[in-house]
Parts: sequence; C-alpha cells; structure tokens
Amino acid sequence: MSQLVRKVERPPRLIDEEGRRADGRKVDELRRIKIEVGVLKNADGSCYLEQGRNKIMAAVYGPRELHPRHLAMPDRAILRCRYHMVPFSVLERKSPAPTRREIELSKVIREALEPAIFLEYFPRTTIDVFIEVIQADGGTRCAGITAAAVALADAGIPMRDLVAAIAVGKVEGQLVLDPMDLEDRYGEADMPVAMMPSLGKITLLQADGLMTLEEFEKALELAMRGIKEIYNKQKEALREKYLAIKREVEVT
Ligand code: ADP
Repeated sequence: MSQLVRKVERPPRLIDEEGRRADGRKVDELRRIKIEVGVLKNADGSCYLEQGRNKIMAAVYGPRELHPRHLAMPDRAILRCRYHMVPFSVLERKSPAPTRREIELSKVIREALEPAIFLEYFPRTTIDVFIEVIQADGGTRCAGITAAAVALADAGIPMRDLVAAIAVGKVEGQLVLDPMDLEDRYGEADMPVAMMPSLGKITLLQADGLMTLEEFEKALELAMRGIKEIYNKQKEALREKYLAIKREVEVT
C-alpha cells in the first residue's frame, strides 16, 4: 500500500457543527470498550481490552521469587511493569526494541498501579506486569493501566481498589473525552488521568499542551466521569468471569 494511503490525514474539521467528532462520538463520549478477563492460560492473571481501535493485552505474573535476589525488598514485594508496542501496532513499523517513550511509560504506569496494591503482604517477591499494545490509536497508556488493574485483580493480588484511567483532550477549543490518535495528533492538549475510583485518589495526572485553569478543572471533572464508567466495566468483566467459573463448578 502506498505511503499516501497509509498517512493519517487531518480532516477539515475535527468536531462538526452538531458537536460530533471524526468517529461520530459526542465530546463527552468514551470509545466502545470491551474487557475480557483471564484470557491467557500461562499467566497468573490477564486481561484483553479493546477501546475503540486500541487492542491491548495485559499479563500478570506473581507474587513470585525475585531474581536477582539482591533486588528484593525485606518488607514488601516490588512491582515491575513493561509497556511495549508490537511492531505492527502502528501504521509505520515500530522497532521491537524498547524506545525511550516505552521506558518512560512503563515507569508512569508502575507508579499509577503501585498505590493500589498491598505490596507489604508479599515481602521478598516480585509482581510482574506486562502490557502489550497490539494495535494503537491514542490513549494506550490509560488503556494499559485499565487492563493491567483488571489483570492484577484476576491474579488474586490483594488491592485497595482497582485503577481506571482515561485521557481528556482539547480539540478545536473544546474538551473531548477519550481522544483517539487523530485528535491527539492535531489537538491542542492531552491530559491522561488514572484513579482509584472508590477511594477518590488520583495515581497519574499528566498534561501536554495549553489549557486555562478553568479548562483544567473541567477536564478533570470530565476525566472522573469517564473513569467511573470504565470502573463499572472493569467490575462487570471481573464479575462475569467469576460467575462463569461458579456456573461451571455448579454443573460438575
Ligand atoms: P498514548 O498512547 O498514551 O496516548 P502518546 O501520546 O505518546 O501515548 O501516543 C499517542 C498515540 O501515538 C499512540 O496511541 C499511537 O497511536 C501513536 N504512536 C505512539 N508511538 C508511535 C510510533 N512509534 N509510531 C507511530 N505511532 C505512534
């Protein structure tokens, strides 16, 4: 396919006169989200998540013995995270080697998840979280956090709360919930937020671009509404898996 066809062109308007975005959503609408729990047999916990065109797999291993041992903490588990985009996840082939962006995102994702986990219950061990972005369309750090939190719960790791995440963008002067790549690319601002929704605690807040203080406050409010919706979907997906297991046990 020619480079011309593959290039993401900017449409003349990103939000039309009726307030509809390029994919037909309203400004305060999330992309369609699908969450599947326990999809990987060999991991202790796993989650496959689709958010619009984003496709993400999260796998959790542990708590397990840590090698090399000198990295172990005597009073708690350590949490290790790897965020990675597969080479075919974007239009232009991405090198499979970890980029600076992926190394930084692995760190911020770890910091967004860490406060939710009772690491002190598992001294001298590690909990390893792998996030593989199979297809990317903007907002993958947030979708990765949402998926990883479900995978951690699926692994049976005791948590204070789930963590759910979403970005708010600013496009043609308007705040938009859950920007896709096109809006991220041509918008004026992007603000990813992660929260422990029941505890009302923010574990990640980043912001790129220009916003007024008033816009920032509105963006945070919009993000929190999106996070509540995602949180309900996370809980629904977890409940669904365990109800299916219960039904299976009852039959046998
Ligand atoms: P996030 O995915 O959390 O929004 P960024 O703002 O860094 O993180 O990236 C926005 C989007 O840009 C990604 O979701 C992806 O669609 C695209 N992107 C990121 N890295 C690359 C890359 N190396 N090549 C092409 N597109 C990329």
